[in-house]
Amino acid sequence: MQIDTTSPVMVTGATGYVAGWIVKGLLDAGLTVHAPVRNPQNLGKVQHLLKMAENSPGTLRLFKADLLDEGSYAEAMQGCAIVFHTASPFSVNVKDPQTQLIDPAVKGTRNVLAEASRTDSVKRVVLTSSCAAIYTDAIDCATAPNGTLTEDIWNTTASLEYQPYSYSKLLAEKAAWEVANDQSQWDLVVVNPSLVIGPATNQSPTSESFNIVRQIGDGTMKAGAPRAGIGLVDVRDLAQAHIAAAFTPEAEGRHIISGHNSNLLEMGLALQSKYGDLYPLPKKALPKWLVWLVGPLSGIPRKFVSNNVNVEWRADNSKGKRTLGVTYRPLRESMEDMFTQMVDNGVFDKA
Ligand code: NAP
Repeated sequence: MQIDTTSPVMVTGATGYVAGWIVKGLLDAGLTVHAPVRNPQNLGKVQHLLKMAENSPGTLRLFKADLLDEGSYAEAMQGCAIVFHTASPFSVNVKDPQTQLIDPAVKGTRNVLAEASRTDSVKRVVLTSSCAAIYTDAIDCATAPNGTLTEDIWNTTASLEYQPYSYSKLLAEKAAWEVANDQSQWDLVVVNPSLVIGPATNQSPTSESFNIVRQIGDGTMKAGAPRAGIGLVDVRDLAQAHIAAAFTPEAEGRHIISGHNSNLLEMGLALQSKYGDLYPLPKKALPKWLVWLVGPLSGIPRKFVSNNVNVEWRADNSKGKRTLGVTYRPLRESMEDMFTQMVDNGVFDKA
C-alpha cells in the first residue's frame, strides 16, 4: 500500500475512540490531517491529538463543525483528497433515539457526503459504518446463508423501538450509498466493524465499548456472564483497516472488519490470567433462563436475551483480509491492553 502524503485528509469525529487511532496512523505516516470537531477549544477533548501531532512527522489542523450544521465541514474539507467519516454517536442508553442517534447519524452522513460532492479535491470517502448495519441480534447469523454474516447482508430487524443504535447505522450507511451513487467524483469505501475493543488514545473515552468492558470488571458480572454472541475487533487493527481502505486504489464496497467470533463470557475469560485474582471478573456462563428472568431488572429486554444468549455470532472477515490486508491480534492482547488502561485511569477504583 502506497500512502500519498501530498494532499491533506479529513477525519470527522477525531475526538472519538476509533478515530483517535486513525488520526495517529495518518500523522505517523506524515500526512496533514484536518480534524473538524465540535469544539476545538475544548482541551479535554483535543489535547491528546495535539500531543500526538507533536510527536509525529504529520501535521494536525483543528476546525469547528457539527454533524447537524449544514455546510460546517466546508472549510475543513478544502483541498482534502480523502474524507474519513467516523463521527456518529455510539450509545445504547438514550431517551430519544430519533434526535440522539438517528438524526446525527443520517443527517450527519448526508451533510458530510454532500460537502464531499461540492469539494473538487475529494476522490474517496471512507465511511465507518458497523456490523450493526448488517445484523441486530446474534440470531440474525442463523438466518444468514451458511449461518454467517457477509457484506451482502443488510440489517432488517432493527427499528426506532428495538436497538435504535443499529438502526441509526443501517440508515446512515444506506444514505451514504445513495449519495455516493448519485455522483462520480469520489468513490465510497465502507468499513463495517464489530464491537471495538482495545486501548483508547485519550484518557476519558466515552464510547459504549468502555461501558461494556467496565461491567466485566466492576463486579456487575461476578456471578457469571451470559454467552451472548458478539464479534470483536481491536481498535488498532480497525484503524489500519481504515487507512488501507483509503489508500488501496482497488478497494470497493463494504468490508466486515472483525477479528473474533466471540461472546461476552469469552471477553471476561480473556482477562482471567492477568486480572482474575484482582477484580471480580466473570468465570462462568450464566444460564439463559436466569438472564431471561432477571435481565429486565438491569435493563436487558427479554427479546435481546432470547435472540443473543447462547446464540453463536459468526461473520466472514475474509474480504477485509484479502483486499485490505487486515490482520488481527489475539483477543487476550486487546482485552488486557484495554483493561490495563482502564485500571490505570481509575475506572475500577470504586468497584
Ligand atoms: P465515540 O468515541 O463516542 O466517538 C464518536 C465521535 O462522534 C466523537 O468524536 C463525537 O464527538 C462525534 N460526534 C457525535 N455527535 C456529533 C455531532 N453532532 N457533531 C459532530 N461530531 C459528533 O465512539 P466510537 O466508538 O469511536 O465510534 C466511532 C464510529 O465507529 C461511529 O460511527 C460508530 O458507530 C462506529 N463503530 C463503533 C464501534 C464500537 O464498538 N466502538 C463498532 C462499530 C462501529 P464529541 O467528542 O464531540 O462527542
